[in-house]
Amino acid sequence: MSCMECEAIAQELREAYAEAWTSSDQASKDAWIATYKMIGGTDDDAVRAEELVSAAKSREPRRINQVLCRKFAHEVRSGHKVAWVV
Ligand SMILES: [Zn+2]
Repeated sequence: MSCMECEAIAQELREAYAEAWTSSDQASKDAWIATYKMIGGTDDDAVRAEELVSAAKSREPRRINQVLCRKFAHEVRSGHKVAWVV
């Protein structure tokens, strides 16, 4: 289920994340990469990954939050599920 608004939001999300990636510092990039590498690891790794993710999230630009709000609002209003692929 999708519509023009869903597609517009998905496109906006992709752009916001691309922008966040290019504008984030090396520590955030390291954190994101580290979390991917830890998938399937031990419990200790999972705890560490969670810490890294919250560290990276605290630097999440306002633009992403705004698009996510728009996404959730549209999903609630229309019953659509906005699908987006990186
Ligand atoms: Zn829609």
